[in-house]
Amino acid sequence: MGIVGSGKGTQGKWLAEDHKLVYVSTGDILREHASQEQQERMAAGGLLDDKEIIAMVDAVMKELPNVNASLFDGFPRSLAQTEWLLDQVKAGRLTMPVFLHLNVSKDEVKKRLLLRGRNDDTPEAIEKRFELYDAVTDPIFDYLKSNNVPVYDINAAQTPDEVHQSIIDCLNAIKE
Ligand code: AMP
Repeated sequence: MGIVGSGKGTQGKWLAEDHKLVYVSTGDILREHASQEQQERMAAGGLLDDKEIIAMVDAVMKELPNVNASLFDGFPRSLAQTEWLLDQVKAGRLTMPVFLHLNVSKDEVKKRLLLRGRNDDTPEAIEKRFELYDAVTDPIFDYLKSNNVPVYDINAAQTPDEVHQSIIDCLNAIKE
């Protein structure tokens, strides 16, 4: 988890590759398969509906029934998605995920995003994504806390190498 530009994609792909995890990025899947109308919502910095996203993740999970471990980038992003995910844990479909939060300031990511230049990296879309993160995604942290699910904070203001190392250190500490 983390705000746009926090490095979820870079770090997620890297970690998945190193640890032979199946990498599932809802954003990547959508950029390839979303309808015209969905692409427009994404380009404007909006979020897609929970129902659409949950159906998509459900379908991906059905295709990966025997996977030992997978890494989700960009999911869950709302309370409804989080509730659904924890329901899947309760139903025995997967073990409790480890939630990592790539923590970085909005000022820092603004600089990064304007350099990245994806079609949803315009100043207006970035502001919209910040707004939605605060309103829709941020409440997940309190929800997980109240369900005794830990969220591990990673300092994502560091260099990519340092962030990667912090993630590895964090996962090793959890294992011990
Ligand atoms: P990302 O690549 O994670 O930055 O996602 C790009 C865009 O895809 C987001 O700004 C949303 O429009 C959409 N998206 C990706 N994942 C989700 C999700 N879990 N819930 C709603 N919208 C999503």
